[in-house]
Amino acid sequence: MFVHKKIREVARILKNSKKTMVFSGCKIVENEIKKSKNQKVKNLFKKNVNRTIDIDIFNRDPVFAWNEILENFYNPIKDWKPNIIHKTLYEFEKANIISGIVTQNIDGLQIEAGSKNVYEFQGSAQRAVCLECGREYHIKDLPKDFKCPRCNRYLKPKLIFFGEPIPHKTYSKGMKLSSSAEVIILIGAEGNIMPTSAIPIVAKNNGAFVIEINDKPSRYTNSISDIFVEYDMEYVMEKLHEEMNK
Ligand SMILES: [Zn+2]
Repeated sequence: MFVHKKIREVARILKNSKKTMVFSGCKIVENEIKKSKNQKVKNLFKKNVNRTIDIDIFNRDPVFAWNEILENFYNPIKDWKPNIIHKTLYEFEKANIISGIVTQNIDGLQIEAGSKNVYEFQGSAQRAVCLECGREYHIKDLPKDFKCPRCNRYLKPKLIFFGEPIPHKTYSKGMKLSSSAEVIILIGAEGNIMPTSAIPIVAKNNGAFVIEINDKPSRYTNSISDIFVEYDMEYVMEKLHEEMNK
């Protein structure tokens, strides 16, 4: 099959690369949403739900905002588990095949899979952060009153709200990674959320070879991708993992 030939070619490129990074996008999440029967999951990222991730609403009424965000974002995805894509990327990091991952996804699953160098450009719907002391809380340990026990200040969801920039440290580390990568793997990326979507373009402009894995063409396909593996992403990652072990 043609796809297997492409996967072998991708494996060859990865084996020869000294620095490979990954950019993962929302199509991985969309597949989870499609599989779900939960209506709250089906509504994720719809406009009327997105509206509540607003820094002004949060500043005006943190308890209201927290309840909305818990109901619409945190709770629907709290039982999700890393899939074969997340697990394979973790294995690749452990084997020094990749050096880091920039993700647009907020599900926290790449970190849950065990990956260390993950830069969540849109934040995480698994954690909350205290803006006073910087301490982070996993959703499972979220205080009932939404306040930092140390500072008595309202915790903020670790999601990046509309009107909020990407945290400086995350952004600069992701940029550094993309400007020095020899190879970049785009997986499940559509290229429609700025400025995060610029990461693959920065890599390409700095000479990186672009491998795209996606179940259908994206904005990157005809602009920057050097190889496009168009197939079920979980299958491709499973086969690629096998190929890398040969
Ligand atoms: Zn605190």
